[in-house]
Amino acid sequence: MQELSGQVAIVTGASRGIGEAAAKTLGALGVKVVLAARRVELCQAIAKDIEASGGQAIAVACDVSDFSAVTDLAVQTRERFGPPGILINNAGVIEPIGGILDSHPDEWAANVSINLLGVYHCIRAVLPGLLEACGVVINISSGAAHTPLEGWSAYCSSKAGVAMLTQATALEYAGRGLRVFGFAPGTVDTDMQVKIKASGINPVSQMAREDHAAPEVPAQVIAYLCSSAASDLAGKELTIRDPILRQRAGLPD
Ligand code: NAP
Repeated sequence: MQELSGQVAIVTGASRGIGEAAAKTLGALGVKVVLAARRVELCQAIAKDIEASGGQAIAVACDVSDFSAVTDLAVQTRERFGPPGILINNAGVIEPIGGILDSHPDEWAANVSINLLGVYHCIRAVLPGLLEACGVVINISSGAAHTPLEGWSAYCSSKAGVAMLTQATALEYAGRGLRVFGFAPGTVDTDMQVKIKASGINPVSQMAREDHAAPEVPAQVIAYLCSSAASDLAGKELTIRDPILRQRAGLPD
């Protein structure tokens, strides 16, 4: 993974959870990390931690559902570190949770605007730099992209859209050296799982906290996917449950 040192990465949804862990893991590998989320003060504190450990990081306030904010994120990244070669599309929300009949159209649209449009916005804004660098895009997926779960119509639909966007992006740009991955991190002990548990809807909400992995576990796989060692997996939807991927990324069985 030494090859990652000096590269530039944008991590969206880096203010907590999987995004925070991915930013710290990449920062420890010498990647210059741009942490983006709406709550920039949380990103700033994490960026300081990365710098205190000898890494380089900045925080940028960004709502990924707003294309002008994402454009500004791309500009600030270039100005500070140069064009990004790594884009981790991690920002996401689970809500609204509940039956379709009980859902509000604005809340349903907000989910799609963050989870699906947000991924498109980030790819669209930084694609020129990514192509220059023969870079990497990792779209954080979910088992919910492929299996419907009660009460999660917006989340499942938006993640299914992201899975198709992963394939569409790979189809158009793999020939120019871009490596695009969908990566489902399994169930992870984050604020998102706290919200899921509180809802009491569907089997995921019945899982015990100990059943979820720590965010550092998928972060390790994310870092591995950024390396050229994972090139042969590009264009695919991957899951942390795959024993071969786990072994290749250095995780226990
Ligand atoms: P989390 O702890 O709730 O963190 C979500 C992150 O996304 C936060 O940093 C949040 O920051 C950011 N975010 C939300 N809306 C945003 C917006 N409009 N613009 C920019 N950033 C935004 O969730 P997590 O569990 O780490 O989830 C990370 C990713 O993994 C998501 O894509 C999720 O769907 C996926 N995933 C999680 C699990 C799991 O079990 N946890 C399982 C499968 C997939 P701000 O609120 O500060 O903006």
